[in-house]
Amino acid sequence: MGMSAENRAPAIETGSSDVSRAPLRTDPAYAPTIVLENVTRVYPGAASLFARRSAGTTALCGLNLAIDNGEIFGLVGESGSGKTTAARLIVRLEKADEGTVRYKGQDIAALRGSRLKRFRREVQMIFQDPYHSLNPYQSIGSIVAEPLHIHRWRTRAARQEKIQEALAQVGLTPPNDFLARYPHQLSGGQRQRVAIARAMVMDPQVLIADEPTSMLDATIAAQIYAILSEIQKRGGLTMLFITHNLAAAHYLCDRIGVMYRGYLMEIGPADEIIERPFHPYTQALLDALPRFGHARPERQFATLRKTRRMHPSLGGCPFFERCVPADPDHCSQDHPPMRIVGERHYVSCFGYTSGAGSQPNKGMALSTSVK
Ligand code: ADP
Ligand code: MG
Repeated sequence: MGMSAENRAPAIETGSSDVSRAPLRTDPAYAPTIVLENVTRVYPGAASLFARRSAGTTALCGLNLAIDNGEIFGLVGESGSGKTTAARLIVRLEKADEGTVRYKGQDIAALRGSRLKRFRREVQMIFQDPYHSLNPYQSIGSIVAEPLHIHRWRTRAARQEKIQEALAQVGLTPPNDFLARYPHQLSGGQRQRVAIARAMVMDPQVLIADEPTSMLDATIAAQIYAILSEIQKRGGLTMLFITHNLAAAHYLCDRIGVMYRGYLMEIGPADEIIERPFHPYTQALLDALPRFGHARPERQFATLRKTRRMHPSLGGCPFFERCVPADPDHCSQDHPPMRIVGERHYVSCFGYTSGAGSQPNKGMALSTSVK
C-alpha cells in the first residue's frame, strides 16, 4: 500500500514497536488476547470533482494496540476516529490493508476451517444500533438461537436451556415471556439486551461492544453498562468497549485508548486517563464532560481551533490543526512518537517533555486534574 512512511504512527521510543505490549515480556499476567500491529485501513475514495479518484479515507493509520486477557478496554474518540473500523477488523468483518490483527497470538487473516469457526464463536460483537441489528421478522427466541444453530451446538433441549440462560443473564425475565416476541415489540434497551444475549449464547471469550448505548437514553444506558460489567466479571471475558463518552469508558473500563482520525493519541489505565490526561485532545474530551470538566468555561475551547481538514499526506500531528501546539514547527512536520508518561500510560504528543517530570503538556494544558 502507498502509505507514506512519515504518515504512519511511529514506533514507541522505548524500542518496542507496540505500545501496550511493552509490559508483556516482563509480566505474563498481561498476556494480550487481541493484538493490532501497525494496522492501517484505507477505504477507497469515490471520484471527486477535482480528481478522477480521491486518495480514499484512511480510517486507521498504523494502529498498535493490545487488549489484555480478561480486561475491559475502552476505545474512545469522536465520530470518524476509526473506532468501528478497528472493531470490524478485530472480528474479521474487514481486512487490514496493512499490519496484522492477532487473536491469542494467531494472525486472524490466516485462520481457516475449524480454527476460523472457533474464532467466530469465541469473538462476538454487539453493534451500535439495536433497531437495525435485529431481524424484524425473527422472534426473539429464534434470534438468540441462531448462532447456536449455525454452529450446530449440541441438542435442541440444550439449546433451549442456553437461550433461557442467556435471556435471564441480560435481565429479560422471565425468558419465556420474550421468546415469541418480535423486535418491534421491544424497547431500544430491551433490543440491545437481546443483542447481548445473542452474543453470549456462544460463551464468547471476547465481546466487542460498539457504542452499544448511543441510541439509548441515559438511564437505559446505565442499565446496559451494569449488565456488561456483570457479564464481564462473571465470565472473565475480554471486552472491547467502544464509546465517544469518556465518562462511560471510565465507569466500565480498566484501560482506555483515545483515538483521533485513525491514530491512537493516548493510552493508559482508566483512572490515569481521567485524572492525568496528557494529550490536549484527551483534555478537550474531558472538558466536554460536565462531571470531569474544569469549571473554567472561558478556557474550555481556548486551545482548540476550529477543525480544518488536514491533508493526509502531511506528516505532522493529526491534532495539529485543532491544537495550540507546543512546538508549531515540530508539531506540523512530524508525527509525535508514543512516549511513556506513567505506568502503562503512553501519549503521542510533542507537548510532553520528560524533563518536566509528570507535568502534562506544560503551557497548553486544559484540565490536568479532577476535583
Ligand atoms: P468511528 O466509529 O470512530 O465513528 P469509523 O471507523 O466508522 O469511525 O470511520 C472512520 C473513517 O472511515 C471515517 O472518516 C468514515 O467516514 C470512514 N469510513 C468508515 N467506513 C467506511 C466505508 N465503508 N467506506 C468509506 N469510508 C468509510
Ligand atoms: Mg462508530
